[in-house]
Amino acid sequence: MDPYDILHRQSVDDPEAFWGAEAAGIEWHRPFTRVLDDRRAPLLRWFVDGTTNVCHNAVDRHLATRGDQAALIHVSTETGSERVYTYRELFDEVNRVAAMLIGEGVERGDRVLIYLPMVPEAVFAMLACTRIGAIHSVVFGGFASTSLASRIDDARPKLVLSADAGSRAGKTIAYKPLLDAAIDLARHKPHRVVLLDRGLCPMTRVDGRDLDWATLRARHLDDRVDCAWLESNEPCYILYTSGTTGTPKGVVRDTGGHAVALVASIKYIFDPAGAAGAVDPVSGRRTFFAASDIGWVVGHCYTVYAPLLAGMATLLYEGLPTRGMDGEPDAGIWWRLVARHRVNGMFTAPTAIRVLKKQDPSHLTAHDLSSLDALFLAGEPLDEPTARWIADGIGKPILDNYWQTETGWPMLAVQRGADASMAPRFGSPGKPVLGYRLKLLDESTMDEVGADRKGVLVLEGPLPPGCMATVWGDDARFVDTYWSLRDDRSVYSTFDWGVRDADGYYFILGRTDDVINVAGHRLGTREIEESIAAHAAIAETAVVGVADALKGQVAIAFAVLRDPASMATPVDRLRLEGEVMALVDRSLGALARPARVHVVDALPKTRSGKMLRRALQAVCEGRDPGDLTTIEDPSTLRQIHDLLHPSPSIVA
Ligand code: ATP
Ligand code: MG
Repeated sequence: MDPYDILHRQSVDDPEAFWGAEAAGIEWHRPFTRVLDDRRAPLLRWFVDGTTNVCHNAVDRHLATRGDQAALIHVSTETGSERVYTYRELFDEVNRVAAMLIGEGVERGDRVLIYLPMVPEAVFAMLACTRIGAIHSVVFGGFASTSLASRIDDARPKLVLSADAGSRAGKTIAYKPLLDAAIDLARHKPHRVVLLDRGLCPMTRVDGRDLDWATLRARHLDDRVDCAWLESNEPCYILYTSGTTGTPKGVVRDTGGHAVALVASIKYIFDPAGAAGAVDPVSGRRTFFAASDIGWVVGHCYTVYAPLLAGMATLLYEGLPTRGMDGEPDAGIWWRLVARHRVNGMFTAPTAIRVLKKQDPSHLTAHDLSSLDALFLAGEPLDEPTARWIADGIGKPILDNYWQTETGWPMLAVQRGADASMAPRFGSPGKPVLGYRLKLLDESTMDEVGADRKGVLVLEGPLPPGCMATVWGDDARFVDTYWSLRDDRSVYSTFDWGVRDADGYYFILGRTDDVINVAGHRLGTREIEESIAAHAAIAETAVVGVADALKGQVAIAFAVLRDPASMATPVDRLRLEGEVMALVDRSLGALARPARVHVVDALPKTRSGKMLRRALQAVCEGRDPGDLTTIEDPSTLRQIHDLLHPSPSIVA
């Protein structure tokens, strides 16, 4: 057995011993009396009776040793600004916001809704909440009023922190009118709204409810607020899932288990070198750059909490991956930032890499990437052609990792901290992460499947620390949605398909929803997408199963071109369609061949960059696409609708 196998075995055979030891990764105010209480499984309590505070561990704890080290590096290519906060400065700012919240009547256990763009204040706000034991609920800045209203009603926040506006590609997106409309729509009315005025657009204020951030900050400039010592199982935050497959679920994360798991994930997955004491020879610190919105779980965990818990500097970025400080196109902006700030680990989603794939690859090699250990990707299947393209382009390990908002940290990953020689394998996010008891089950018999056989990916309880505690306010929904019994053991379903090779590497085949049935044969849309992605002209693709009178379902493919100008005529596109069909025939067989390949400008995605296949499928079948509140850009879907269902010509 290699070192990984030994550690993994220990972690699942004796979770209390394993996690009891990992708990030393954070500071406790009062020690826990019991590592795990699973009497109400699947509702678990980790580190029972222990008290701690996430903000203390992410900020205060580092003051003595790295007070003058960079903690938060904020770069906005939208406003052309850059600012570095040391741990001491971060501490001051967090205290100001904490004092501000207390001054406005926020108490331990109250919810605070954060609806902010990617500004430093968003990080101060999250940490300030955890400092005083308030539960934050971050919603993507600029999210539609209806989605915001449903989250307000679900979380019932006492106070909302927001701003005048966000900015995207230099265009101001006013937040205040969206927020006002959401509060109008919501049944629950927050008492207070604190507004950050970025000077991007005028705001109207509601008397008695709306307050100015800068005024409050000035009032609390020198205030200090003690950390609230929370019992390990008190909630830290509520975060809604991406809503790719349906109504988002309010995931509740606890305090102690969450912090312990994130620190462990840095050690085993994201920065083993730093955890072992190494620093960057130039910067004298470790720096992490997770280019994710704070409204998504990756932003919570790997832009904000984990790097700070580990004493790293974290880079918070507002802007596009293809636009520079001066507003001019710059497809190398991320790599420029890696070089400039000596980033040691970077994290983004495959969807961002597919955006870069449409650009000239010379930008990948134009900057000094010597500080970078690895690029981490998560959120959607990473097709091999995209993985190879970026691996060749930057010459660094590309480490896919698989998880969900619910789990809060990876379930599958390459764990160089468990075994330095563990190598990534194209198409695979790696092996089960320490602490996770992963199984692949046959969908109908629930029996475990062997190597190279498809199965539904499940986790056997107990889930490790850091995973969702429950659905906010609804334990029954948590149990009913995710859990079932198998041989007296409760299992958590991920609702994803996977397969394991003989060496123990897992491959994700897509969501159980995304399986299509062609003439009695079950096919994963991901496999078809993967073979289409190999076509050199295609940057991105989505495949859905569409009802067909003869075959039950047929595959319909949508493709975004790397260079649309090179295939502008209908003849070019027909040729492309033929080539794609031939490609799929060769790799998967004629059954998987898409019945049509539509070339489109863009694909409908959620704010976290996930393909909304259910919406595509509905449009193909001429149905109402249903809940679209989580869509990033509704015009993508309208365009596809118009392409598939051109309105009858009025000219005879
Ligand atoms: P909802 O649950 O509301 O429908 P969602 O599942 O998209 O939305 P997230 O928690 O953001 O919400 O996404 C988790 C899902 O993303 C996983 O279940 C899986 O389908 C997919 N995923 C995440 N990482 C990977 C990865 N590395 N490879 C393949 N798929 C991944
Ligand atoms: Mg999900």
